[in-house]
Formats: sequence, C-alpha cells, structure tokens
Amino acid sequence: MFPKSFRKLIENFSALPSVGPKMAERLVLYLFKQDKAKLKEFSENLLAIQDLKSCRKCFNIAEDDLCEICKNSQRDPRIICVVEEPLDIISIERTGAFQGLYHVLGGVLFSGKDESLKINELEARIKKEGIEEIILATNPTTEGDATALYLKKKLSNSGIKLTRLARGLATGGDIEYADEITLSSALTNRRELK
Ligand code: ZN
Repeated sequence: MFPKSFRKLIENFSALPSVGPKMAERLVLYLFKQDKAKLKEFSENLLAIQDLKSCRKCFNIAEDDLCEICKNSQRDPRIICVVEEPLDIISIERTGAFQGLYHVLGGVLFSGKDESLKINELEARIKKEGIEEIILATNPTTEGDATALYLKKKLSNSGIKLTRLARGLATGGDIEYADEITLSSALTNRRELK
C-alpha cells in the first residue's frame, strides 16, 4: 500500500519504546510533510548519535572521553551526585541548584543487571578524587531506595558524608519527571544518612 522506505521507517519508529504502530504511522507521515532541510537535519542528528560515548569518569553521555560537566573546571569536584540514568542529570541541571559532579550508575539494584552498575567505578573515584560528599539521588522508588541503602552500607566506612534527596519528591516517582522547584528543594534540603 505504501512505498517500502515509508513502511520501513514506520517499522523503525514502532520498535522504539512507548511508540505503538498508530503513533509510528503518524510520525512518519509528519516527517514526510517536512521540508528537505528539516529532514536532513533530523537524519544528521540521528547519525551523530552513533559517535557519542559514555564519559569515562561519570558515565554521562559524552562527545569525547569526558562529558561537558566533568570537563568544566567551575564545577565542585568535592561533591558527587549519584543518579540512575543520564536523563536524571538533565533534570537536576535544569534546577541550577547543583554545582558538583555526577556519577551515573546505569540502573538500580534488583533490576536484573546488578553486574553492570557502575559501583566499583564509584568506589575507585572515591579513592582518588578527594570527594567529601555523595548525594544518593536514585529515584524514590522501592528499587531506588534499596540501591541507595546498599550504597550507604557499602560506603559508610569511606569517611565521606552521604546524603539522600529530601522527601517531597513523590514516592514511586521519577527524578526525570520531577518539576524544577520540587527537585531543587529536595536537593537543598537533602538529609545526611547516618
Ligand atoms: Zn562526566
């Protein structure tokens, strides 16, 4: 019914998370109606993604070995915010309330990929970077809380101040979707874990 390239693109979009076949059809039709310059930019950005990598220090998304945040000498290297995924960094950066560095775990415990979590890498950073405080900013979900608790136990002998975001973020909610004011106040009012 439709040309092959059109159908193929619908298949590509359908394979994306949260995009059903109907939505995929609408998106491809929308793209079909765009002018060439827009489509060119879209496809170039898509291709450029394959050259991105993980920051070798914090595992944020990066263009080079180090991400923009790790490269920035204005950031405070004494305080590290531990998050589940790179998208959490975007949300926290949007608040403007945090000037330290990050560490992306790459998930949470009990999600079936414990081995791949960057916990050893976090411990290695603690040994060599002169860190004074670690904010455990995993999501306020059962798994996020369990992961924070696990990290607290594991790091409690390191002599580093361990804090957790203040309550106020909806329990079971995601940092990624928290509004700026709530997230900013959760950061400012973070509590020390003892
Ligand atoms: Zn980085």
